[in-house]
Amino acid sequence: MLIPIHEEMTRKALGSYFSPRALEIIIAANRKQDALSGQLGHDEFHFDNNAIEKGLRYINEQRGFVLASLLSPGVLSAWIAFGRLTHTAQDFYSHTNYISLWLDQHPGTPPTPPEVDPVQKSLIQSPSLRSGKIYFPMDVLYFIPFTRSIALKFLPADSHGKMNLDSPKQGPRFEYARAAAVKRTQYEFDLLKKILPAELFAKFTDM
Ligand SMILES: [Zn+2]
Repeated sequence: MLIPIHEEMTRKALGSYFSPRALEIIIAANRKQDALSGQLGHDEFHFDNNAIEKGLRYINEQRGFVLASLLSPGVLSAWIAFGRLTHTAQDFYSHTNYISLWLDQHPGTPPTPPEVDPVQKSLIQSPSLRSGKIYFPMDVLYFIPFTRSIALKFLPADSHGKMNLDSPKQGPRFEYARAAAVKRTQYEFDLLKKILPAELFAKFTDM
């Protein structure tokens, strides 16, 4: 997703659960994943290039870092790890075909975006689950508004340029990706709430 959309979704999902300072650090860490240093050689941050398993493993690792950090002095690194986790969890819906597979189950009149199930196990484990491949240089030209239409003429159907649901410009499926990403962010928070002892949860939320 575009960086401002990551920020807006994270605020919407987590705004009432964390102190303002914790929320700002979580958002900054989420945004930082899309910096150039987080783009090159880090398919797992964004579920790019069919890095489905790597992306899922990255989410689990960051959840582990949250726990380990909360057991150590200080709390900053727990917020940073959770920010990274939320970025990858959100990109799952804009960079894979999860939303298309979910909608395929509902031929005819599709359910509305708020009805999307972000963690349908049979889809997350489906052999049909794919993510967009980055094709150089066309996927770079895709990011420049001036050359986007030319790039789209050359990009194959399995490219990031053709598959992504990064912004409302990608059509009606974007709203499903956004709704799923917000729900997934809340789901990840709820998961930690369930496993953290009360005093660590209070430390984490800073409330
Ligand atoms: Zn990303």
